[in-house]
Amino acid sequence: MDTVDKIFSCTRCGYCCHGETTVSLDDNDQKRMIEVLAEDRAVVEEKYWRITRGIVQMKIIDGHCIFFDNGCKVHGGRPWRCAEWPLHPSILLDENNFYTIADSCPGIKVDVGYQEFCRILKLLMAKAKISC
Ligand code: SF4
Ligand code: SF4
Repeated sequence: MDTVDKIFSCTRCGYCCHGETTVSLDDNDQKRMIEVLAEDRAVVEEKYWRITRGIVQMKIIDGHCIFFDNGCKVHGGRPWRCAEWPLHPSILLDENNFYTIADSCPGIKVDVGYQEFCRILKLLMAKAKISC
């Protein structure tokens, strides 16, 4: 069966949760995170978010997202861009994107080969659309 573990298995290295900024949260991300944290919006904003000119991101602590601690501490409420990573659709467009993303994410199974990787990724994306 063509399951995600054939092309990706997270090593929990945390690379994607490190840096000086995080992904931004759209309205749905914000609602979901508030629900999962089960706190008032004002509290979530104060404790976890950095809001700059209306753009909501997560706070950075010691060079990583505030929710990173040997894994994501808000997994069910993480922003969609976090959930999508590293199986980004741009991989399907250009083999260079595949290797660039693989360079940033040791969980990508490069040995599968680009063509096979894309075949499975397309199937997974189609399944995800059907189940939405
Ligand atoms: S960079 Fe890849 S392997 Fe590392 S934590 Fe992020 S998704 Fe997992
Ligand atoms: S929300 Fe979770 S997955 Fe996204 S950057 Fe923060 S710790 Fe990483």
